[in-house]
Amino acid sequence: MTSENLPIVVIAGRPNVGKSTLFNRLVGRRQALVSDQPGVTRDRKEGEALMRGRRIRIIDTAGLEEAAPDTLFGRMRASSESAVSMADLVLFCIDARAGITPTDAHFANWLRRQNRPVMLIANKAEGKAGTDAALEAYSLGLGTPLALSAEHGEGISDLMGEIVDRLPHAPREVRHRRRDEKPEEGEEQEERPAGPLHLAIVGRPNAGKSTLLNCLLGEERMITGPEAGLTRDSISVDLHDEHGPIRLVDTAGMRKRARVEQHLERMSVSASIEALKMAEVVVLTIDATLGVHEQDLQIARLIEKEGRACVLALNKWDAVEDRVATRKAISDRIETSLAQVRGIPVVTFSALTGAGVHRLLPAVRKAYEVWNSRVTTGELNRWFEEMLDRHQPPLVDGRRLKLRYMTQVKARPPTFLLFGTRAEMLPDAYKRYLVNGLRETFHMPGVPIRIQLRGTK
Ligand code: GDP
Ligand code: GDP
Repeated sequence: MTSENLPIVVIAGRPNVGKSTLFNRLVGRRQALVSDQPGVTRDRKEGEALMRGRRIRIIDTAGLEEAAPDTLFGRMRASSESAVSMADLVLFCIDARAGITPTDAHFANWLRRQNRPVMLIANKAEGKAGTDAALEAYSLGLGTPLALSAEHGEGISDLMGEIVDRLPHAPREVRHRRRDEKPEEGEEQEERPAGPLHLAIVGRPNAGKSTLLNCLLGEERMITGPEAGLTRDSISVDLHDEHGPIRLVDTAGMRKRARVEQHLERMSVSASIEALKMAEVVVLTIDATLGVHEQDLQIARLIEKEGRACVLALNKWDAVEDRVATRKAISDRIETSLAQVRGIPVVTFSALTGAGVHRLLPAVRKAYEVWNSRVTTGELNRWFEEMLDRHQPPLVDGRRLKLRYMTQVKARPPTFLLFGTRAEMLPDAYKRYLVNGLRETFHMPGVPIRIQLRGTK
């Protein structure tokens, strides 16, 4: 969808009611673009917001009124006219602390005659402030005012819900494109995505996923952006570390949805599957006091199968008595049961007390980096020759396979093509030998590594 087709929401109102603040709240850290609008000398602010999975163009009319002469109302009207004329929805803001001013009333009158859908917003209504003005606002004839506080972030989730409900032809939910799915036209296949790192926190019920999520979000001083968990049925939450944004796929929401249909044990697995498909890195949370359960391994195998990077989070470390023995027992179990992804990073912490949680996101970043690794064809084939020298490819039907060369065809996860005469007959054991060698030589612990075989004549 091009930005031209997105539904347009225009924020209007007299100066100082908080339009810009609301704009920033809705658009968050999404790149706000400023475009020249012919006819007005001031730029107007436009940005894109994501509400319940729906992309929406937001236009802020703040500051426009300074351009034209005339009365304040005349200036507001002139500046808002073009924006309002293309709006699918107008958010008309008043200052609930200041009450309704004559300018508000005047502008409301004009707005009603524009025949655009309007939502009345009583801003600066944090706490119980502005209840009176909100009631007074009924008199504007623009329907029920929605009281909120743009500055404090109160009422924003309700606002987003209302906006989406009021927009024409709202598709229920836009599915996240899997990171490895076919890119849209014009997108570069192998380019690193500039967007946030997509992270899922999965695990069995009671492993402490919700506690961990709250702990991670608690460290964020301010939750920003439209997906900031403010949306009622949001499926993702944004947080930031020093390297940039991280989008947490919200499995709690998915569990709620799954709960309707399934038993508790099955539920956690199916919610995990859904979540990890949308993720790049998956944090598999384990209750360390219980050790590794078969279901944990099942989820880990799924992560491998889906080609995601994995970080193993041993939670409830505060309640573990013999930490050295526990750590060793769990690591051993993981290494033997998940031999195909040796070296999964392990982080121990207590989501309850917060101790050690700061180590999680750095481990996630590292795993993400490894998952993105690339090896040049030169390096790869020097290594490959050594591997062939050390162990000759096996005989198949009495004839030795001739393996010629390798090349990395993609990252995320690292995927290699191996060419050779009858290469497609290469036994799994030899393939594992190559995978382990790749992992060790090129430092790719804990991520799935794929080798595809191409037979040549
Ligand atoms: P605009 O001119 O309509 O774009 O208004 P601004 O967004 O610039 O806000 C005007 C003033 O109101 C600023 O000082 C904001 O900090 C303040 N403001 C915005 N939203 C709120 C709110 O929800 N509560 C309170 N108390 N102040 C707010
Ligand atoms: P979820 O089902 O995976 O989301 O698990 P919850 O976050 O709801 O946690 C399940 C239970 O484990 C709750 O009673 C938590 O208080 C408790 N819990 C979570 N993290 C820790 C921890 O680090 N240490 C201890 N002792 N208890 C924890």
